[in-house]
Amino acid sequence: MSKAKNEKTGPPSTNAGDTASSLGSVNRKSKIVNRKLELVFLGTGTSHGVPMIGCHCGVCRSADPRDRRNRCSAALLAGGRTILIDTSPELRLSAVACGIDRIDAILFTHGHADHIMGLDDIRRFNDACRCSIPCYANAPALQRLREVFGYAEQPYESAAGYRPSVNFNLLEHPATIAGLEVQPVPLLHGKEPVLGFRVGGLAYCTDVSEIPKPSWPLLEGLELLVLVALRPAPHPAHFNLQQALETIARLKPRRALLTHLTHDLGHAQTAASLPQGVELAYDTLRIQLPIANCRLPIGR
Ligand SMILES: [Zn+2]
Ligand SMILES: [Zn+2]
Ligand SMILES: [Zn+2]
Repeated sequence: MSKAKNEKTGPPSTNAGDTASSLGSVNRKSKIVNRKLELVFLGTGTSHGVPMIGCHCGVCRSADPRDRRNRCSAALLAGGRTILIDTSPELRLSAVACGIDRIDAILFTHGHADHIMGLDDIRRFNDACRCSIPCYANAPALQRLREVFGYAEQPYESAAGYRPSVNFNLLEHPATIAGLEVQPVPLLHGKEPVLGFRVGGLAYCTDVSEIPKPSWPLLEGLELLVLVALRPAPHPAHFNLQQALETIARLKPRRALLTHLTHDLGHAQTAASLPQGVELAYDTLRIQLPIANCRLPIGR
């Protein structure tokens, strides 16, 4: 099992001085500031969320807080910086609940409504940094984002307080984003190409129904795999629980957490049935793991 622990971090400790770079494209004037990466689950629910409107099943009425699931989103914290993964409709509630006060960049897995519709809430993050927030996505997701949030693609100065300010960037290759080496992992969500993301030993893959052959090697040797497991029944655009477990058995991460869950997967009952090393994620869960490639420009 992994040495990764669930715990909150204090302020990042700095470990300045290293300027050597084995990461060719990285700013040479950089320092390794924190060898810990923290993943925060802002939301772990499917597109309807849990509880679902109009449903009174046992899970939707459950008193277990782990059965209350906002739409899927997460944050990566390292070196004093924060990368948001997706902007779910509950972004404001999730960010307040998890203490996410600032962000430096946003990675979008894809352009479906449950993953983008909270983008207007980033106005508070714009005001915190007094700057535009860089966003990264594949081509179909960028097209959707521009259709829905075209008004947000403007400088901070002309938008302050009233409109979100972003700049949209195509992510096709590994890139240094907010000090982290981010590897995009092409995946299929039904017929739609979507992205998973790998950072060091962590991979985050939601809304997946197929891993294309060239992407399997990108998911080898993981410390932690976050993977969709929609429900027990099959679905054309998402791994169900059995497919998720089969994928985990093939990839053999040290630890796996399942996300994008419907009300068909009650937390306590499902968690008790999972194999060793596989767990259900839940909203507000924080995971820490070591990372080697966390660099920030000197002066930040
Ligand atoms: Zn989704
Ligand atoms: Zn229900
Ligand atoms: Zn989707």
